[in-house]
Amino acid sequence: MIVTLELGDLVAKGRVSIVVERCKACGFCVEFCPTHVLALSSAFNSKGYHPPHVVHPEKCSGCDLCGMYCPDFAINGTKIPQASAKQASGGEK
Ligand code: SF4
Ligand code: SF4
Repeated sequence: MIVTLELGDLVAKGRVSIVVERCKACGFCVEFCPTHVLALSSAFNSKGYHPPHVVHPEKCSGCDLCGMYCPDFAINGTKIPQASAKQASGGEK
């Protein structure tokens, strides 16, 4: 069996920032992320909540749906310009 991989499939198009201390663990960001980038962590923040963490960074599109649903402004997604994404992955220089 021959498996082919396109480099573009492996390069994240977005990244997520999480302000752990603002999170109240409602799970909206995990539930509504269309590509299942996030999961609630087993760790606690200082308020005793389980914040999300990134489990599939390569799948993030930077769509910011997580940020739009978060009631506590604790997370946001941003798009990565494709030239820098390729450089970060060791692709085109
Ligand atoms: S939507 Fe916001 S408050 Fe809710 S789990 Fe995600 S980061 Fe935490
Ligand atoms: S920016 Fe979009 S793809 Fe990335 S974690 Fe947030 S909802 Fe998911």
